[in-house]
Amino acid sequence: MTTPLVLDQPPRHLTAEHREELRGLFTRLIDLGLDFKLQDSVFQARRQPFELRDTLLVPLPEEGSPIEAVLDEFVRDVLPDCKNENSPFFLGFGDTGDDVAALCGGLLSLFTQQNLINQSFDSPSGTFVEIAVLRWLRGLLGYRNSAVERTESIWDVGGCVTHGGTLSNTIAMMLAREHRAPGTMEHGITDPSKLSIVVPRGIGHYSVKSAMAWIGCGSRLVEVDTIDFRYDLRALERTLRKEAGSVMAVVAYAGDSRTHTIENLSGVHDLVRSVDESIWLHADACWGLACALTDKLSHKIDGIGGFDSITVDPHKVMGIPYALSALLVRDPAHMRMVASYSDLIMQEDFAIGQTTPFIGSKAWMSLKLWMMVKAYGRSGLAAMVERRLETTRRFTELVDASPRLVRLNDPDLTAVAFMYVPADVDLAAPDVDRINKVNQAIHDRMLAEGTWHLHQFSLPDKGTFYRGATLYPLRFMGQNLRIEEHHLTGVLDHVTALGRDCE
Ligand SMILES: *Cc1c(COP(=O)(O)O)cnc(C)c1O
Repeated sequence: MTTPLVLDQPPRHLTAEHREELRGLFTRLIDLGLDFKLQDSVFQARRQPFELRDTLLVPLPEEGSPIEAVLDEFVRDVLPDCKNENSPFFLGFGDTGDDVAALCGGLLSLFTQQNLINQSFDSPSGTFVEIAVLRWLRGLLGYRNSAVERTESIWDVGGCVTHGGTLSNTIAMMLAREHRAPGTMEHGITDPSKLSIVVPRGIGHYSVKSAMAWIGCGSRLVEVDTIDFRYDLRALERTLRKEAGSVMAVVAYAGDSRTHTIENLSGVHDLVRSVDESIWLHADACWGLACALTDKLSHKIDGIGGFDSITVDPHKVMGIPYALSALLVRDPAHMRMVASYSDLIMQEDFAIGQTTPFIGSKAWMSLKLWMMVKAYGRSGLAAMVERRLETTRRFTELVDASPRLVRLNDPDLTAVAFMYVPADVDLAAPDVDRINKVNQAIHDRMLAEGTWHLHQFSLPDKGTFYRGATLYPLRFMGQNLRIEEHHLTGVLDHVTALGRDCE
């Protein structure tokens, strides 16, 4: 830790005469950030919400303080309860935000303050960095890019950068709505009964349901049964025939948010197209983007290039600090369906703001991915994903070798859902209620302790105990590149010990 810097006259904005002091200040910040991310623990403190509330909800200060004092206060009152997703004990989720090149991009985007809304006067070069990133993502997922010299405006690009999969999915559903009922942007919704969305039962992400409500389609989610966390294609066909004329979109998960199972994308594509060509096909590849990065997995997303739109979340699978997502559309002209026009701004060919519904001024989020991809190249990205797969493979071995643990999915990516089974449970007639209660108790204990982190959610049983029963498993993810063998054995030993305790 560097010694605190005392500024006699704290500069409140950047001035050339204070350059050296500012350098010292920002150096201290970088040290703070590195110390935070490199600490082993997930949390340094676990205060109750009311305690944090009473510490932090203070009146607006009358007088200002030197920035050093503000930093000291932050370190004392805020930072200890910040979750460190880069801790090797953080084993429940994907986003570590630890990529060096992406952190460089993130810091530089703060400093350069480009507004990714207009090209000519807001982000002259930044606009083309963002377009380059969109073209890389499109290429990885099997969408065709226009030739560079034919890329004459934003309408030739076919996608937009957003701050999350939720917004990307929402824009996709708006495209589906406009495709099904052209002119809705102008006239509003006249017949909501034509605007339902088909999703797989029990494994969908809430963003699709919320998107429907946000864009005025009401609550018209049609859920279809699954087999092994993928659509039961026969059930899907029955549903499409029964709901003929009322479905605007079918959503398929290239990596659902629970077990990250990759849908049979070609199967869904061919079936939907054969029943009704006008249905919008959307692939949510927030997690599945990882498949596009290595030849070892790319076959799993065969057929994704035939979908009308794809959501990806580099902040989930590429170590990119929050936030960065993109929506890609197969036919770039489709973005015109949800375009914004204004005489204030965006009267130019490459103004990205025309293709970003719900967003005005926009930070240069894409610079993080641009730097990351440049730093890794295709081979480096493949190596990163393959190392994570290796960690995951090792973890599944350990789960399978443990007499008290049962694994619930065959990982396509890095997610492993598993449960502790109490010793007295008869596996011939398992008491699912009791198994759930014990696993919920294990998770509660882990959260309260704050040392190890695994995720928990509801999951339809694919047939491990009783097909279709609702399970509350623990979920491991092998994303974090700081994970070593002793973390894998350590967390499983801890789960088993807690399980014995909770029985
Ligand atoms: C996380 C997730 C989303 C939402 O993404 P955010 O970036 O959190 O907005 C959408 N779909 C799936 C499958 C996800 O896992």
